[in-house]
Amino acid sequence: MTDTHSPSAAAILRLLPDALQQLSAWQARWHDYELDETLRVPDAQAQAVLGELLTRLQDNYPFWHPSYAGQMLKPPHYVASLAYFLAQQINPNNHALDGGPATAQMEIEVVAELARLFGYDQHLGHLTSSGTVANLEALWVARSLHPDKAVAFSSEAHYTHGRMCEVIGAQTQTIAVDGRGRMDLDDLRAKLQAGGIGTVVVTSGTTALGAVDAIDQVMALRREFDFRVHVDGAYGGFFKLLAVEGTQTAAGASLLEAETAAAFRAIAESDSVVVDPHKHGLQPYGCGSVLFRDPAVGRFYQHDSPYTYFTSNELHLGEISLECSRAGAAAAALWATLKCFPLTADGGLGAILSKTRQAALRWAALIEAAEQLRLVIPPSLDIVNFYATTRGLTTSAISELTHTVFDALMHDTAHPLYLAKFNAKPGLLAAHADLQWDTSMLTVFRSVLMRPEHLAYVPTLHKRVLEMLAAAA
Ligand SMILES: *Cc1c(COP(=O)(O)O)cnc(C)c1O
Repeated sequence: MTDTHSPSAAAILRLLPDALQQLSAWQARWHDYELDETLRVPDAQAQAVLGELLTRLQDNYPFWHPSYAGQMLKPPHYVASLAYFLAQQINPNNHALDGGPATAQMEIEVVAELARLFGYDQHLGHLTSSGTVANLEALWVARSLHPDKAVAFSSEAHYTHGRMCEVIGAQTQTIAVDGRGRMDLDDLRAKLQAGGIGTVVVTSGTTALGAVDAIDQVMALRREFDFRVHVDGAYGGFFKLLAVEGTQTAAGASLLEAETAAAFRAIAESDSVVVDPHKHGLQPYGCGSVLFRDPAVGRFYQHDSPYTYFTSNELHLGEISLECSRAGAAAAALWATLKCFPLTADGGLGAILSKTRQAALRWAALIEAAEQLRLVIPPSLDIVNFYATTRGLTTSAISELTHTVFDALMHDTAHPLYLAKFNAKPGLLAAHADLQWDTSMLTVFRSVLMRPEHLAYVPTLHKRVLEMLAAAA
């Protein structure tokens, strides 16, 4: 009999009964009780509501399928889903050890693994509910150390940095980017020289382009200027796995460019780093993380909780976190995932990321070979940006074609395909000298190839784009 479920759903169906049985056996150690009548829902009603929910959930794009190659979105691995669901039946709160000793311990373990990944010898860190909150914490600590100085980040940095600096009342400075979307080091140097910058936020994988700032070279500027370095690796942080010497494709080439790999290796010298397990770490939403290289920054978190912690004098995660309640289930899910997919270059998560990276390289090569398509910049990680020239080189015509083909691909009933769009500014496209600018920005296709299945699917994506372009010509 063939399984009619999606591969993930089928795995969940296979694994869930035994796991639930083990959970129930443990729960049965307490004497029986009845679900209170106020909590009961007739099965028929629950079924009807869930049925309605599933109908409403159909208003979604197929994030689990390789035909979805748009935004930074994918469902968690089924091991993460199962672990989250099982832990959620207990619903531990990782604010304090009392709230869930097991998941607090798991959080400490996975955070130590993340610290090892980035090369921090010692660390203070924890999971957060998102990359935004994780970055907020790092910026808050940075501001506490340099209260009168500005936070600098590039124009391609995540938009939340500016917003979070407003929250913490920190001044900001925006640094220009070079032709590959990386922080422009000459502009950074000039602004450091002018004085007043206390912290530089570098991005190891920008959200739009996957550009990796030259962290090693920013670090080198610390010989001349005194500033903190915070690395925003919310999206790209896990690519550190591929930055070891000797990671090779079958063809023998290194998967990351040498300068990208050097940037990742320099994270070891940064003051703080953020990575989102809910982006490239196979986790459900609600899982970011922040790590500090100097554990002494824990002093900034000191607070007098009116509630007493009764279990131990050990460190409580709530005492080194801006947030209070956090899902212990998120730590359980990440812990279980890293047991199956360790943070190694050749197996585990590294094997997945090498495929997503190869998918980007494969599509970039096809785009470069296609007369009617152009890369915006060569991809540094697994995000590809490109545009079509079949209607000429005015930016209005190219942008319009992007919108038309984007819609046509998505609404094709026989074989829909989902990409994203990005509005590129002229500075980024300076090397594309023949573009005729009659708009302020150029709308291009953007594709995040964050599933390993994308590697085999790239020729299909490419073929469909060319077909839709021909139809739109
Ligand atoms: C996604 C992202 C963020 C924000 O993280 P959330 O988890 O969405 O809050 C910050 N920085 C970068 C580079 C990102 O890609």
